[in-house]
Amino acid sequence: MHVFSEITTLQQHLHARRQQGQRIGFVPTMGALHQGHLSLVGQAKAETDCCVCSIFVNPIQFNNAHDLAVYPRTLDADCALLETVHCDIVFAPSAAAMYPKPVALRMDFGDLETVLEGKFRPGHFNGVGIVVSKLFHIVAPDRAYFGQKDLQQCLVIRRLVEDLSFNLELVICPTLRETDGLAMSSRNRNLSAQERAQAPVIYAALEVFRAQLSLRGLETARQAALEHLRQCPDLVLEYFEVVDTQTLQPIEQYQGQEVAVCVAAFLGKTRLIDNILM
Ligand code: AMP
Repeated sequence: MHVFSEITTLQQHLHARRQQGQRIGFVPTMGALHQGHLSLVGQAKAETDCCVCSIFVNPIQFNNAHDLAVYPRTLDADCALLETVHCDIVFAPSAAAMYPKPVALRMDFGDLETVLEGKFRPGHFNGVGIVVSKLFHIVAPDRAYFGQKDLQQCLVIRRLVEDLSFNLELVICPTLRETDGLAMSSRNRNLSAQERAQAPVIYAALEVFRAQLSLRGLETARQAALEHLRQCPDLVLEYFEVVDTQTLQPIEQYQGQEVAVCVAAFLGKTRLIDNILM
């Protein structure tokens, strides 16, 4: 496995591989890797000739200084994990390499970012759009892999690829969960033992909603899920929204269409998100 921190050396290496006809798969991450990330790498390995995994905690997508300060950084352990799944290339640039000067560009994803994460994390998708654009230019992948866990991010990136004509195929991969249902997340490491014990309530509430929707309708299902979340004293809910899977706008009337149920909540100082499609 090759590890690069410089943009130009990575690009020279990738150029040589492309000359040999290799197809490049790309998995952008912020590190503190878990099995969810590794499943994306596994899929990239299966579908392309060379998998590049980037590890970069992107400062401009954090709207909360505490969240950025405590975001776990575990590069050595990440590289060891990536070796186990035969990742070909790790790209771990410094912030100075990615942002030699402050970025003046601003990205606005319109209605896609006035809801859910965009509403509660102002500027977040601007930062995501900029870093992913830069990474797409640097790596120039044939395919890029993202997790459904960050559903709104997937739709924002899809829009980015369409609007800026990036010549790549987006692949959306399913959410990997712990055995108790908790969606795997780098931020789970910041939970205390007590908070970790309560965290599965988030997915459990999504499953309560799923079980109730077709039987009792939208409003009753929503109330049942919210009631389930209220049983967890330390959980502070930010949103629980039932939305259209393409526009992410709230569903007013359920008529059997495909919906996404999206939730964000704090357990202590740790903010967790999850969603299901149904
Ligand atoms: P992050 O390091 O949190 O920015 O995530 C990097 C990529 O891994 C994103 O495309 C995420 O959606 C994806 N990802 C994060 N958690 C999971 C998970 N539990 N299952 C599958 N993919 C995930």
